Amino acid sequence: MCKPTVIARKGNIAVTQCVNCKMVNIWNKAVLISFTFSQFSSFVDLTNDLDFDDYLETSPDGLEIVVLATPYPDISLVFTRVEWHNFFAALAEATYMQEIYRMVHS
Ligand SMILES: [Zn+2]
Repeated sequence: MCKPTVIARKGNIAVTQCVNCKMVNIWNKAVLISFTFSQFSSFVDLTNDLDFDDYLETSPDGLEIVVLATPYPDISLVFTRVEWHNFFAALAEATYMQEIYRMVHS
């Protein structure tokens, strides 16, 4: 049975996990990204050290944004600076909470 738990929340971002399915979901307004536990930790490892200013682009509206590829071809995430900060803060918190859950439930 599916029992999703909220393991992180920052700004518009929420991260949930289900220990039964071993799935992590990242919720961001209209976007929902699903990962297996191992896909999630790979994604966190790959994106951990990225610096917003190194990837700066300008959106059609003239905003400073960064476009981040997802594991799914042709789907990319677009972040403003604040959204970027919240996203990675939420991923870091989620990773930390996963470790806590692992210690408690193993
Ligand atoms: Zn489940």
